[in-house]
Amino acid sequence: MKIICIGRNYVDHAKELSNPVPVRPVFFMKPDSSLLINNNPFFYPGFSKEIHYETEIVLKISRLGKSIQKQFAHRYYNEIGVGIDFTARDLQNQCKKEGHPWEIAKAFDQSAVIGRFISLSSLPDPRAISFQLELNGNTVQKGNTKDMIFSFEDLISYVSDYMTLKTGDLIYTGTPAGVGPVNIGDHLVSSVEGQVLLDFWVK
Ligand code: ZN
Repeated sequence: MKIICIGRNYVDHAKELSNPVPVRPVFFMKPDSSLLINNNPFFYPGFSKEIHYETEIVLKISRLGKSIQKQFAHRYYNEIGVGIDFTARDLQNQCKKEGHPWEIAKAFDQSAVIGRFISLSSLPDPRAISFQLELNGNTVQKGNTKDMIFSFEDLISYVSDYMTLKTGDLIYTGTPAGVGPVNIGDHLVSSVEGQVLLDFWVK
């Protein structure tokens, strides 16, 4: 399976990192070795001094597809979860400055945290999904998928023009504003529509 992550899909987050608002989706990938599941602890890596959380709604692809048209994209996922796209911001800034790819800042072990999945049909409105992250009991990120620049359907259609989507692939759909650093000892709890789907510690 593969993990596709969308960058800059919320205007307020693009602004907080001084990035232009994109006219087409920006995406990058993480390997399956970056997955962190079952609420296992995240071990702070020695190569970075600035690991940031980015809380994102994650789509789980439910069937094989290539060059999927927007109007059919809803047939390719039926479960969503919430995840953290951990980012070594210090390394990412260095990569950007040097014009290099981002992998060391984005694709390292445990950088793709994912919680429990829930079915789309269990949500009050699948086009306006509210989600949030609590860090040590304080709400630090609050988002709603109605504020995405590119919808789930836009993303599935765009990505599948370039690469075949397979059952079990994950798409991290971008973070709202409020990203920030984590430290050893932190407790992260993330919920969707008030339901806790992810709960883990940084060690
Ligand atoms: Zn992200």
